[in-house]
Amino acid sequence: MSLSGSGGKKPLIFYVIIVGVVLLLLNAFVFPSLLEYSVREVGYNDFLNMLEAGKISAVSRGDTQITFVASDEDGRDAYYKTGLWDDPSLTEKLYTSGVNFTEEIPTKTSPILSFLLSWIFPVLIFTLLGNFLMKRMSGARNAMSFGKSGAKIYAETSTGKTFDDVAGQDEAKEALTEIVDFLHNPQKYAAIGAKLPKGALLVGPPGTGKTLLARAVAGEARVPFFSISGSEFVEMFVGMGAAKVRDLFKQASEKAPCIVFIDEIDTIGKKRDGGQFGGNDEREQTLNQLLSEMDGFDSTKGVVILAATNRPESLDKALLRPGRFDRRIPVELPDLLGREAILKVHAKDVKMAPDIDFSIIARATSGASGADLANIINEAALRTVRMGRDFVTQEDLQESVEVVVAGYQRKNAVINENEKRMIAYHEIGHALVAAKQSGSAPVQKITIVPRTSGALGYTMQVEEGERVLLTREDALNKLTTLTGGRAAEELVFNTRTSGASNDIEQATRIARAMITRFGMSDQFGMVALEQVTNQYLGGDTALACSAETAAKIDAEVIRIVNDAHARAVEILRANLDKLHSLSAYLLEQESITGEEFMKLLND
Ligand code: ADP
Ligand code: MG
Ligand code: ZN
Repeated sequence: MSLSGSGGKKPLIFYVIIVGVVLLLLNAFVFPSLLEYSVREVGYNDFLNMLEAGKISAVSRGDTQITFVASDEDGRDAYYKTGLWDDPSLTEKLYTSGVNFTEEIPTKTSPILSFLLSWIFPVLIFTLLGNFLMKRMSGARNAMSFGKSGAKIYAETSTGKTFDDVAGQDEAKEALTEIVDFLHNPQKYAAIGAKLPKGALLVGPPGTGKTLLARAVAGEARVPFFSISGSEFVEMFVGMGAAKVRDLFKQASEKAPCIVFIDEIDTIGKKRDGGQFGGNDEREQTLNQLLSEMDGFDSTKGVVILAATNRPESLDKALLRPGRFDRRIPVELPDLLGREAILKVHAKDVKMAPDIDFSIIARATSGASGADLANIINEAALRTVRMGRDFVTQEDLQESVEVVVAGYQRKNAVINENEKRMIAYHEIGHALVAAKQSGSAPVQKITIVPRTSGALGYTMQVEEGERVLLTREDALNKLTTLTGGRAAEELVFNTRTSGASNDIEQATRIARAMITRFGMSDQFGMVALEQVTNQYLGGDTALACSAETAAKIDAEVIRIVNDAHARAVEILRANLDKLHSLSAYLLEQESITGEEFMKLLND
């Protein structure tokens, strides 16, 4: 069931129709009889006849007509009017008949009715008309009342989705179960005094199931689900977005416990850059309102805010600090097993042949998102209908993979076998160099599932404890690890690929910082050659030295990185057989854990 967000407001057309019908009814029945009853038009001769017959009790002579009161057939007083006639003897006739003749005669209509008709009714009509036009002009939104935002807030009493509908995102689901538990019984948390984070941010490429996950959380917790998309906050009128935020949180706190979901939060949550001339007032106001609402409400009440974005790097730092969206839940592209699980979830609603092998399809769709896989199943079902069969076969699935994959290749995400091999060697190059140096952070995960962020694979290293200091050896270690990918390409394929571009960027940044800010080079020592210009917004740096020094810095950066590269080549050359065997394994598995890696490395 879905409730309308703005308190059951009926569409405008409803009121217009009501007014129209009332007017028509008045026109057809009430007005004519009123008027007819009050004034009947008669000829001048009838007037004279009635006068002679003594029926007339009062007469009033206006500029263009005569109005008079006479008893009608039933003997009741009625109003009449007649045209003016050039009749010099009229006054005399009136005088002799003894009627009351004045400039004005008291009207018969009741004072209340005439007041209503002449004052209230026109005012009412104009108010309604004015309102209607105003609404039309402001594009169905009420521009005059800033408090009532008219935001499209979608509230669902129950989403009907559960975690079972989301396949393969096990880490994300695990992170969200705590929120579900909290919504089930907030008292348990309140009793101990534990405060759950107010907000969690789902980050990941499009189509990986972020929106689906948010709905599933609400479904699992059996609480109402308020959702709004970030773009809905961005308005023509300054202040409207902020009003919508206020509205949203007001409604949510009335329905607590519940979930508020802000999709595509990057549209309002972009970094506020003070430096830029002018800036975007509306967006900043909206963001500020959101921040203050998040600070303002009491999380023990049971309102949990979820947000989703695929551009986390562009978010304002203020949104991410503790007490706001301090939980960050990655929702990545699915790996082999994840893809198989997603295919199976979506196949449940479709008639399938009993002998379908989903793992073959999963293998063929490296780089596909959950939405792509759902699409593949649907394409296959459509094909089945086209072919006039009753259930989907393996062949239908394979065909639809090609249809959808052709689409990917344009988007540059699905990778052919040979490139996949190169990427596997590149990643194992990093991992192997890291593992063979003492003091490197342990490898946690290696994957060649491409990221839409541009990375074709990555090697994740996680420090064992929290580190606050970076030693010169650590920095050099990192540089060597970063150059390990390229070193593997050179050793095995005797070529250089563009896949190392991110490594190059990072290595350059580290080497530069070592020289210009950390004082780690013998040549320059403890001299600050660069300054951080905006510490809280991005941390860009500016050179603070002469041109000659800048040239020397460049030379030193190149030397440091080249040294690191040479060390990496050396390490890989000494472990060439491991490089081959590990790469082959990664190629087959797509993702391997640090443990698997170490086990293979050590036996
Ligand atoms: P996002 O919000 O991350 O862009 P959505 O949640 O809108 O992605 O996902 C779009 C659709 O793709 C979903 O409605 C669902 O049918 C399918 N889908 C995506 N990921 C999954 C998943 N992990 N399990 C099952 N279906 C998925
Ligand atoms: Mg979405
Ligand atoms: Zn790399």
